[in-house]
Amino acid sequence: MKQKIGLMGGTFDPIHTGHLLTAEAVREQFGLQRVIFIPAAQPPHKQGRKVAPAYDRLIMTEIAVAGNPCFGVSRIELQRSGPSYSVDTLRELQQAHGQEAEFYFITGADAINELSTWHEAQHLLEICHFIAATRQGCALDLPRLRREFGESLVSSHVHELPTPELEISSTDIRRRVQEGRSIKYLVTAEVEAYIYKEGLYS
Ligand code: NAP
Repeated sequence: MKQKIGLMGGTFDPIHTGHLLTAEAVREQFGLQRVIFIPAAQPPHKQGRKVAPAYDRLIMTEIAVAGNPCFGVSRIELQRSGPSYSVDTLRELQQAHGQEAEFYFITGADAINELSTWHEAQHLLEICHFIAATRQGCALDLPRLRREFGESLVSSHVHELPTPELEISSTDIRRRVQEGRSIKYLVTAEVEAYIYKEGLYS
């Protein structure tokens, strides 16, 4: 039987409890053996915006997932130079795992709505499943995806997961730190301590 592996792709600037709850919900609902968090080194769509150093985002991700034996972190995108194209990541992982692995790429619905702008998007959608975490004010635009990629590919490879937990957002957390407001319980205690110790977002 094929091994089902979740790939939690994101900037994780910073990783928060919404990401963790989503990954665990997907793991359970889709019967995944494990979920690998993949911090993007250089997010392709964020060439203009200032993002915390990749090393800090990696460490925060590692300490956040440490308590869950089904979770892991991959440095695959941090070890590659240039923009973090998901299709390159998938190719590398397919080579490493062979034919017996089936991949589920988990990310926010807003990111998946823009899938047609991703590098080699059609091929990417053919070689892995996408799980779109939706939250209030950000629905998955299925009509758009069907127009762009065709009805049958979208219905077999794009799945929606409503995640009210994702009312928590990295943008809000960065803003809270800057304004001196509490981020307790929005991130794990270890990530909170790391943010303050390293002076991130202030
Ligand atoms: P983003 O624009 O920062 O995030 C879009 C939305 O999705 C935000 O609301 C974000 O919330 C949420 N989100 C991000 N990662 C999530 C996750 N794993 N689970 C649930 N929600 C998530 O998106 P991004 O981080 O730049 O990109 C997301 C992933 O798509 C990355 O792995 C990136 O490499 C990939 N991507 C690839 C290409 C390409 O190959 N050309 C292009 C674009 C994106 P928070 O801010 O709270 O996380």
